Amino acid sequence: MRAAVFDAANAPLQVREVAEPSCPHDGVLVEVEACGVCRSDWHAWKGADPDVTPPHVPGHEFAGVVIEVGPDCQRFRIGDSVTAPFILACGHCPECLGGDPTVCGDQQVIGFTAWGAFAERLPLPRADFNLVALPEEIGFVEAAGMGCRVTTAFRALVDRAELKPGEWLAVHGCGGVGLAAVMIGAALGTPVLAVDVNEKALTLAAELGASKTLNVADLSDAGEAIRDLTGGGAQVSLDALGITETFHNSIRGLARLGRHVQIGMPLGRHAEPSLPLLELVYARQIAIMGTRGIAAGRFPALFAMIASGRLDPARLVTKTIALEDAGAALAAMDGYTGSGITVIDRF
Ligand SMILES: [Zn+2]
Ligand SMILES: [Zn+2]
Repeated sequence: MRAAVFDAANAPLQVREVAEPSCPHDGVLVEVEACGVCRSDWHAWKGADPDVTPPHVPGHEFAGVVIEVGPDCQRFRIGDSVTAPFILACGHCPECLGGDPTVCGDQQVIGFTAWGAFAERLPLPRADFNLVALPEEIGFVEAAGMGCRVTTAFRALVDRAELKPGEWLAVHGCGGVGLAAVMIGAALGTPVLAVDVNEKALTLAAELGASKTLNVADLSDAGEAIRDLTGGGAQVSLDALGITETFHNSIRGLARLGRHVQIGMPLGRHAEPSLPLLELVYARQIAIMGTRGIAAGRFPALFAMIASGRLDPARLVTKTIALEDAGAALAAMDGYTGSGITVIDRF
C-alpha cells in the first residue's frame, strides 16, 4: 500500500509503497478515508516524541471503513464506518475498568507507538474496547477533523475543568484544538476569550464563537490584559499549544480559584516551566490539571452535541489535501501561521 514515510527526524515525508499491514487477531483492518494533520504529528516528525522511531508513518486522526475483522473481534463487521481515540487502551487494567482508559498503563498510541494513518490502510488492535462506530450523518473528513482535537477539547472542558455556563473560558493557542475548545465553550454557553499571536487564527476563533479575542504578540503582561477583559480573570483557561509562554499566560489570566487545563504537549525546554507557587497556586488558589486523549465511551456524548446542532466540527476543517501534500502540511507547522484543521482525504 501507499504511505507517507519519514526515514529520519525532520527528513522529508516520502509517499511510497510499504508492506501491506495484516489484520490484528483482536482488531480490524481499516481502509483510511480521511486523516487529520495535527501538531502531534509535527512533534513526531521533528523527533520530539519519545515513542517514535523512524522510519515512521504518522497520522492518528483517522476515519475509515472496516475491510477485515480479526477472529477475536466481536463488535465490528466489514463495511462499518469507524474512528478511534488515538490511545488504544488495554481494556482490562483497573484504570480501563474504572472508566479512565486515557491513563491506561499499557496503552498503544496510533501513529506513535505504531505506524499511523498517513496511509491507505491502518491495522487497529484492541478494537472491541477502543473502536468507535461513526453515526451515518458524520462524514469521514468531519470525523477526521474531530479526532483528536475536538475530542481532546471536549474532555478538557467537560470532564476535566467541568466548565459551567456563564464562566469565562480563556483559550491560549487557536490552532485546531484551541478552535475546537472555542466552539465547545460557546456551545456550552460560556463567554470565550481567544488568545493567540496570529490574527488569522483569532478571526477564525471569533467566527466560531469567541466573544473576545486578544493578540498577545506584543504584550508585556498578557495576564493583566486577560483579567481586564474578563472582569477579574477566567474561571477556566486552557493552554492549547504547550509552550512556556502560553502556559504562563494561561495561569496568569486565571481568576481566583480558576482551573488551568494543560492540553498542548510541553516538550523539550517547555517540559518544566517555572511556576509562581506563592502568588498563583497558594494565594490565588488556582488548580492545574492535565488532559490527554479521550475515552471511546465518551464519543456518544460528543455525537449528541453534534446532532443537537450546537457543535459543527466540519467548520474547523479549512483545507483538504492529497497524501502527497502531507509533508508540506507538516512543514507549514514550523511557524504559527496556519489556521483551522487540514485533513488528508485522497490516498
Ligand atoms: Zn488499561
Ligand atoms: Zn492530534
